[in-house]
Amino acid sequence: MAKKITQKTKTAMPCVDPQERRHTFQEVANGYTDEMAMAEANRCIQCKNRPCIAGCPVEIDIPAFVQQVADGDFDGAYRTLSDKNILPAICGRVCPQEDQCEKLCTLGVKFEPVAIGRLERFVADHANAMGLHTDTASAPAPSGKKVAVIGSGPAGLTVAADLARMGHGVTIFEALHAAGGVLMYGIPEFRLPKTIVQREIHQLEEIGVELKVNHVIGRTFTVDDLFNELGYDAVFIGTGAGLPHFPNIPGVNLIGVYSANEYLTRSNLMKAYKFPETDTPVVRGRNVAVIGGGNTAMDAVRTALRLGADHAYLVYRRTEHEMPARLEEIEHAKEEGVEMVFLAAPVEILGNERSRVRTMRCIRMELGEPDSSGRRSPVPQPGSEFDIDVDVIVFAVGQGANPLIRSTTPDLHYNKWGNISADSKTGATEKKGVFAGGDIVTGGATVISAMGAGRRAARAIHEYLSNPLPDGC
Ligand code: FAD
Ligand code: SF4
Repeated sequence: MAKKITQKTKTAMPCVDPQERRHTFQEVANGYTDEMAMAEANRCIQCKNRPCIAGCPVEIDIPAFVQQVADGDFDGAYRTLSDKNILPAICGRVCPQEDQCEKLCTLGVKFEPVAIGRLERFVADHANAMGLHTDTASAPAPSGKKVAVIGSGPAGLTVAADLARMGHGVTIFEALHAAGGVLMYGIPEFRLPKTIVQREIHQLEEIGVELKVNHVIGRTFTVDDLFNELGYDAVFIGTGAGLPHFPNIPGVNLIGVYSANEYLTRSNLMKAYKFPETDTPVVRGRNVAVIGGGNTAMDAVRTALRLGADHAYLVYRRTEHEMPARLEEIEHAKEEGVEMVFLAAPVEILGNERSRVRTMRCIRMELGEPDSSGRRSPVPQPGSEFDIDVDVIVFAVGQGANPLIRSTTPDLHYNKWGNISADSKTGATEKKGVFAGGDIVTGGATVISAMGAGRRAARAIHEYLSNPLPDGC
């Protein structure tokens, strides 16, 4: 008999009061209690087709772990989750489930879908509180093969974990002083506490992955050195999209103009790692404008509030409806007092006599007719210029591939944006033994899509190491 749904909406996530949290880097969402998690898990109808699994790039058995939560078997739910996802506490916090597993949830046809992401977070946090660890007992005998992974973002971490679990020796080379990529340096503490990132990364070391930080590939070693001097049998490149874009307008060189990348990295170093402010100076700004509409822009504008801004403006050239940021983050930002300026874009930045930002001149936009994909481009409205007085401007208008690997590995193929060309099913590149995945291939995307690319590449690398191609292929 079909299960009767008594609760049509998701169990609400308890959060810190907006007026309190807008001044602190403390995590915004508190997480479910046991009772809330069981109530939410009980909304799952365990439907026959289980479409939610197809919406998960790392193929978690969602109905199984949700049922375990409903039954109060939280340890079992963690074993099911961690079998497929090495970063569940991270994914439960930042993945856009509304566009993935939850989007396909059968319950969502009539009601709100099961809150799969919140349940994932609950299970991972429970495991942490209980000191549960990823299963290491079932590791196969060492294969004798060595794989170098360049970059320790979600793509690199996933490929490393999967290959280690297959018995290969894996070393991650990370340019920065801590592993995690955007998880450590980009996404702020109030959304993703760094202790959680480090804890999940530590589990990789427990399954035998070696981590070498402060190793910039292209400087410390080249990709070819990894094969020829260090004896690696395969290389995975997961170096992300860390090169910020700036618009071509007057004034971008003034003091007080940042890329979101720099602004978030500096404030993360200051707030999460407690670096002295003198080591990582960032102009705090009383009136801060952030340009963009994605998750990065939301993180930057909410960080501005927490660094003490009186006014934090989000300037976006389309409307709220078109914003690519997660809905939840947009809501949180509005609750905290972020001032949204839609259908506007900067055309010039004006400075004072000390070359510091004083004013941002913007132009109003209107959305044009939909193109073949249904997307409406913003069209500037001549004569509609207006000024916003600001002392800090942060651009969150996209990021590209860092050119270092490209300049030192010319025999890889790149697209016109500098991203590595790799097979979407395997991550294989044109260079023998070299695989790639995550943002360095797709351009800026999501944590879970980078993890999915890492998973697919791990399978292909395992296959390659088991049946290497003869030289010359
Ligand atoms: P990255 O996470 O960028 O990691 C690449 C790593 O490679 C870095 O650690 C870098 O230091 C290292 N590296 C680079 N070059 C070298 C080199 N030459 N040698 C050695 N190491 C090198 N996605 C979501 O799903 N949800 C969100 O809420 C979300 N919010 C975001 C907020 C911000 C501020 C940003 C910037 C991105 C956000 N994203 C979000 C996107 C998501 O974080 C990325 O898509 C994801 O991290 C990409 O993973 P990756 O492994 O490809 O690269
Ligand atoms: Fe449960 Fe929704 Fe998955 Fe069906 S699609 S099994 S209802 S989570």
